[in-house]
Amino acid sequence: MPLRIDILTTFPELFDPALPGGVLNASIPARARAAGLVDWHATNLRNFTNGRHQKTDDRPFGGGPGMVMMCQPVYDAVLAVEASDPRPATRILLTPQGRLLDQRLAEDLATKPRLLLIAGHYEGLDERVVDKLAPLEVSIGDYVLSGGELGAMVLMDAVIRLLPGALGHEESAAQDSFSVAQSYSGHPQTPRRDRIVVPPSTRLLDCPHYTQPREWMGMAVPDVLLSGDHGAIERWRLEQRLARTRERRPDLLPPSGEMAGR
Ligand code: SAH
Repeated sequence: MPLRIDILTTFPELFDPALPGGVLNASIPARARAAGLVDWHATNLRNFTNGRHQKTDDRPFGGGPGMVMMCQPVYDAVLAVEASDPRPATRILLTPQGRLLDQRLAEDLATKPRLLLIAGHYEGLDERVVDKLAPLEVSIGDYVLSGGELGAMVLMDAVIRLLPGALGHEESAAQDSFSVAQSYSGHPQTPRRDRIVVPPSTRLLDCPHYTQPREWMGMAVPDVLLSGDHGAIERWRLEQRLARTRERRPDLLPPSGEMAGR
């Protein structure tokens, strides 16, 4: 069964699989969809409005600028879309006030059968429909977007590339930044001092990568990568991941002391 993703939005055309240049219609998400690993459907919130004017928003009580998305269209759309498939959907509201999207959350969402993403606009949703639907509130970063559509696409891309089979077999998410790193233990004869112990569940940045040519503008590729020694290469890559993480994102590392011997 493919992962099913529903998006509730006032701009469903942005998710149209036939949209030329649509950001999800290229590269890994498009391949994953073609391979039957994921399927997504965008639903227009305007189809669930009552009035003649297909209004999804109104002026805020209490005054002030901007518009607020009304409860009823959002609520009706969620129930109708959920009823179109028996699999339970994880409800997610894109909002700058939500839990920050990170790799761990993306990994968790990639195990679900079905996601339902609600993209807000203007000032966001009437708080009462948020209370009623109790979605998981997710932010893609500490800045404000004009609408939840880009947030939904970012979340979708991050999740889809983690679906088993989405990356070609030479590619793998296992070494990507923010994935959990494995210790390097070498082979049974590898001396203890050459092993690298990474505490369980430690997420590291990726190592640097190089390709042809071997020399470019006087800059060489690290020798170890040309050595053909797979153990040495694996060890070097892990060292680089640790060094980069220490330098750029020490907040990802366990408190010092647990990284014994490194
Ligand atoms: N007044 C709101 C912002 C509304 S922005 C506030 O300050 O909290 C309009 C819509 O864009 C939101 O409803 C949400 O769906 C989306 N959005 C904006 N910033 C976002 C972010 N960082 N992450 C996810 N969605 C975001």
